[in-house]
Amino acid sequence: MSRNSPNTLYRYCRSIRWLVFVALTGTATLSFAWSDHTLGTWQALAAMPAIAAAPPVAAETLDAFLAAEDTGLQALLAQEEQWARRYVPAYPPRPDALQFQAGGPPATRRQRFMAALRINPDCQLPLFLQMRPGTQPPPGSNLPWTEVTTLRRDTTARETQYQRLRPGEQVAVLEVIASASGEPDDGLDIGLWEDNGTPYGHLYGFGKQPFGDPALEFSTQAPFHMGFFHESWIIYKAAGFLRRTYPEYRIHLYRSLAAYALKSGHPYWGWRFAGWALHYVQDLTQPYHATVLPGVGTARMLWINALDIAGRPGAKDRAIRLVSNRHLALENYQYHRMRDAYLHKNPTDALLRATRNTSKDAAQAPWSDATPRQVVSQQAHDWADRTDRMLEHALPAKYISDPAYVLEQTEPDIDLFAVMQRAPQAMQDDMTQLVSDLMQHFGTQSRVFIASFLPKP
Ligand SMILES: [Zn+2]
Repeated sequence: MSRNSPNTLYRYCRSIRWLVFVALTGTATLSFAWSDHTLGTWQALAAMPAIAAAPPVAAETLDAFLAAEDTGLQALLAQEEQWARRYVPAYPPRPDALQFQAGGPPATRRQRFMAALRINPDCQLPLFLQMRPGTQPPPGSNLPWTEVTTLRRDTTARETQYQRLRPGEQVAVLEVIASASGEPDDGLDIGLWEDNGTPYGHLYGFGKQPFGDPALEFSTQAPFHMGFFHESWIIYKAAGFLRRTYPEYRIHLYRSLAAYALKSGHPYWGWRFAGWALHYVQDLTQPYHATVLPGVGTARMLWINALDIAGRPGAKDRAIRLVSNRHLALENYQYHRMRDAYLHKNPTDALLRATRNTSKDAAQAPWSDATPRQVVSQQAHDWADRTDRMLEHALPAKYISDPAYVLEQTEPDIDLFAVMQRAPQAMQDDMTQLVSDLMQHFGTQSRVFIASFLPKP
């Protein structure tokens, strides 16, 4: 070894670190993962008779639930903290001052609970249901979207209608879970890091945001909604911050709250917390949320990196732009196609059918704490390169192979489902096949997770 080796290795690692960081900054800034989870959850759970035909449950305010379960929640949340410290890799411990205490002042109970979960305290958590695209809430029950989300959303999302529920109102379990499965993208995980400039970010103990732009609101939630568990060792060595992704923490926490609420006679909150946990399970089925650079193998990543060090950054910039465009293209197409199927009341659309397709459910092991890492994100990671290749085949080159084109910026209102209806039939069929396969993963993993709350058959 030459005397320069450690230095060269250091420079090399720093450069890979930068490559991965820049790639993730793009991803984290723009991405919702699957857009509007509720559209998918309605289909996935419609295929579960125990959920679709479950007796309705009575809506209950969060304050009523917390008042009734003050003591039990203190013990449950303390246990959760112990579990996370023991089993979640690179877990940032919750400061002890945030431990939920029973018997505290009722006026601050809700804030103390939200602080113990380390979620955005500005979320109002109203009683609500999301309406299917094209349907209106019953007269007088319209809930403005600004009460559901803390985000300034784009115009498409603003078209979503919400129904306000009254305490005690009977609601279908399927609707509760589906509506709740969208909530983690509505602000719960926004601004939690100490460098996000929020008062609560300073108290929560998560440290500095591991990747993404800490000044961009939506980017701040990304490390909770992605899971990079299957990269090669050299990538982790260079970019250790990749280990700081926490969907497992969120899933376990909300799953435990759900099980507790169901057992203690609060089915509305049981299913609502289950929907929150389900969101993160579904995010991990998205190949671009489980792999840093799909379609760019480790060897190529190292080569691009070597060129970059040698002063030729072109290959790096190109790779990052194309991965980001393909990621967004997949989600853009999926969102517009599913929304269109709802608007046109077309339940036989291939994506909706694939999400309801139970043919692979029985082959899955029952849910366990290891499932998010070893099954869900592993499957998405295994599909990452294939997804990237198929997108390259199935979509017009402009959108996914031109580094000068920035998806959803060059043409801000782009609707790739509409674009594809003018493409050759073979390309349309390839795209339908790919996204159907991915939506079947989404459906199957959703059902495996929700089945974990049902009595064993
Ligand atoms: Zn998400």
